[in-house]
Amino acid sequence: MTGPATLGEAWQAARQRVDALDARVLVREACGCGEGRWISHPETPIDPAQRHRLADWLARRASGEPVAYILGWREFYGHRFAVTRDVLIPRPDTETLVDAALTRIPQDVPLDVLDLGTGSACIAIAIALARPLVRVLATDASAAALAVAADNARALTAANVRFVQSDWYQAVGDRFDLIVSNPPYIAGDDAHLAEGDLRFEPAAALSPGGDGLDALRTLVASAPDHLRPGGWLLLEHGWDQGAAVAVLLAAAGFGSLVTALDLGGHHRVSGGRLAEPSPSALGTDRGSV
Ligand code: GLN
Repeated sequence: MTGPATLGEAWQAARQRVDALDARVLVREACGCGEGRWISHPETPIDPAQRHRLADWLARRASGEPVAYILGWREFYGHRFAVTRDVLIPRPDTETLVDAALTRIPQDVPLDVLDLGTGSACIAIAIALARPLVRVLATDASAAALAVAADNARALTAANVRFVQSDWYQAVGDRFDLIVSNPPYIAGDDAHLAEGDLRFEPAAALSPGGDGLDALRTLVASAPDHLRPGGWLLLEHGWDQGAAVAVLLAAAGFGSLVTALDLGGHHRVSGGRLAEPSPSALGTDRGSV
């Protein structure tokens, strides 16, 4: 097999197999060239290693594998995160959750933050890098995911993130000022699970089965046991789950309920605050209603 010998031919080969957006990324990364170089300097030769890498990547992309898994990384919140098939691919919608968290973390206060089901640790590390004084504990039930997460923390020099293997709160002893999570929330019978990138992602990170709310139920119900008074819980959820999550939050005693929209204009993040004991309640007897 000969294959493309120049950048221009590489571009043509890529366009025959994948869409233009994917072709740009895959040609650029496989051939180590600048964006659009295949247009400005199509005669630039490519070497056999680049040719083989591009052929491999195009075949994988054409068979549906997500670009992030092919390259082994994805940008999130301005940082490059390593990803493998052991972790969910970071999504722009999840930046909404990071924004909502950072809004509630002052620059100069050393708060404790818990990220449950951290995956690649994109949320935990984005928060940790933006707020160097916070201490983040990030958990995942998957040891393979935690290995990816720890690699990311090292590569991005996020020294203020610790990791522990835990099924949600199971191995979490302390209390925190802020809990965040992007749990699995897709309903078990959602047809999207059999489409596109989702086919390649860890099933346990996408769907808890059933109506999709089970992980959110667990996270909300036990959050008061792991938050300090006045602490916040912020959760990513499905585009149509905002009302259900608000009901869960209220039932668990959360107030100051907030919601934030994703890039598509859907309610994607909801949260609430655990009440501080009111001064008048302090020192009064139980039952003095
Ligand atoms: N937001 C993702 C999707 O709908 C799912 C991520 C998740 O379940 N937390 O593709």
